[in-house]
Amino acid sequence: MSERIYNFSAGPAMLPTEVLERAESELLSHAGSGMSVMEISHRSKQFETILENARQKIKELLNLPENYHVLFLQGGAAFQFSMIPMNFLAGNQTADYIVTGVWGKKAVKEAKKIGNVSIVFSGEETGFRSVPTQEELNFSSDAAYVHYTSNETIDGVEFKYDLDAGGIPVFCDASSNIMSRPIDAEKYALIYAGAQKNLGPSGVTLVVLRDDLLGKIPDNLPSLLDYRVFVKEGSMPNTPNTWGIYLLDLVCDWLKAKGGVAGMQRENEAKARLLYDAIDKSDGFYRPHAEREARSLMNVTFRLPTEELEERFCVEAEKENLSNLKGHRSVGGIRASIYNAMPREGVATLVKFMNHFAAKNG
Ligand SMILES: *Cc1c(COP(=O)(O)O)cnc(C)c1O
Repeated sequence: MSERIYNFSAGPAMLPTEVLERAESELLSHAGSGMSVMEISHRSKQFETILENARQKIKELLNLPENYHVLFLQGGAAFQFSMIPMNFLAGNQTADYIVTGVWGKKAVKEAKKIGNVSIVFSGEETGFRSVPTQEELNFSSDAAYVHYTSNETIDGVEFKYDLDAGGIPVFCDASSNIMSRPIDAEKYALIYAGAQKNLGPSGVTLVVLRDDLLGKIPDNLPSLLDYRVFVKEGSMPNTPNTWGIYLLDLVCDWLKAKGGVAGMQRENEAKARLLYDAIDKSDGFYRPHAEREARSLMNVTFRLPTEELEERFCVEAEKENLSNLKGHRSVGGIRASIYNAMPREGVATLVKFMNHFAAKNG
């Protein structure tokens, strides 16, 4: 097998090597059972223990109060764009949406099919380069909830604070920065995240929701679209993604060993600083996409002087084992995704390459 490379993919993204090695060592026989995790019943004690462990570790890592449920769903984060309004935007209610990038815009599109949406901030006209400050935001007094995307993966802009909506339930798509830093969980009514950026493989969606929300859900929903059913059945009204939940549990172990989300924050800030410094010190060769205050610690987006140079940048980076640096087709340019599992050496290697490339082509 060839060496592992530094994979800057936005998702599915790098997993910690230690996690993959542990999974490999247990692949054929988990916990001495003679069976792979993929082969055991989701109703077995063995799997229930895995799921319960994962749930407990998430509660601990996110510092969740007792009145929050931890659910493992399927259908990806994008499925939540529909499931959320189906559960919480019934009747003639309105929800407030903050749109700071491509994902938030998609969430609006789906919510509008279900109910009324009021867009209280949109960064679209200025190219999704910024996030609003708390003071800039005014919410509808009767909003059913406020929805925002804490980190816009494609555009590379991130909220640096936990939103406060003055008592209106706050719903957050945290797919690409969950567990990257401590949050004040009590500020949120619902947090969701596809696992494939910071938590594990694709196919599992983590949903954290506050208990009092359950009382607002209408009774006519199909069972598998009703959060209450997942709460009641412990995330297993049907067969969950057993393998994905198992890997997520291993990632939680890794996070805990690395100092939890506070440890991650220190490391992520250091990694992002290396990269943004290289951009800022390039005399304009590398041009950051995001405004300074909104710069994402997870997805670093920037342009080069020409598209031809951007293409060459990616080709030459690949030769140095720096992979998947091409920006999303809707934004172009370069995007380096540096989630929790990206080691600092990976970023340092990229920075070295960037300095060389700029010196040669600037
Ligand atoms: C990746 C991503 C999604 C979509 O996730 P899927 O699991 O593919 O549905 C939604 N929101 C954000 C912020 C993302 O980064």
